[in-house]
Amino acid sequence: MKIICIGRNYADHAKEMSAPLPETPIFFMKPETALLRTRDFFYPKFTSDLHYECEIVIKIDKVGKNIQEKFAHTYYSSLTLGIDFTARDVQKKCKENGLPWEIAKSFDQSAPLSKQWISFKDVSQNISFELEHNGDIVQKGCSDHMIFSFDQIIAYVSRFITLKKGDLIFTGTPSGVGPVKIGDQLKARLMGEEILSFYVR
Ligand code: ZN
Repeated sequence: MKIICIGRNYADHAKEMSAPLPETPIFFMKPETALLRTRDFFYPKFTSDLHYECEIVIKIDKVGKNIQEKFAHTYYSSLTLGIDFTARDVQKKCKENGLPWEIAKSFDQSAPLSKQWISFKDVSQNISFELEHNGDIVQKGCSDHMIFSFDQIIAYVSRFITLKKGDLIFTGTPSGVGPVKIGDQLKARLMGEEILSFYVR
């Protein structure tokens, strides 16, 4: 199983990062060891500027390579929410030196994920979600604000990498990303329903 994450998929987030809008999807990967499903998150020692990024996550249902956009919808049927934790200080150094982002993005437990999967049949076309940080709503997103749709992401990624059953795609974060500290609580809601809640320890 692998986790594919899309960068800069919301114009408002690209703007807050002073990054140009992408012409094709930008992706990076996290290993299976990044998943965190049932426990609280432990703040890693190698960063002092850890940021949350709340994202819609879709699960791949069957193997596929070079998937055409018009058939991409047959490759997934459920979604949930996850956090793409990012060591922003480490990522900044990687960017400045033209280095890969793995040490900033792909470390153990960097991908807390809700245990609750929701069928696409049960949601409207525009999927809204939000992240609450210590009681304040800090991120609000809607799938129709994504620069690249789920289908476009699948078509693009599968040109390079075979997608397999159980693979996850984190589809990018809206604006409002920010730092967490030990003791903080994060809660994520999909279409108004809380499906992920944990503490930073
Ligand atoms: Zn992200």
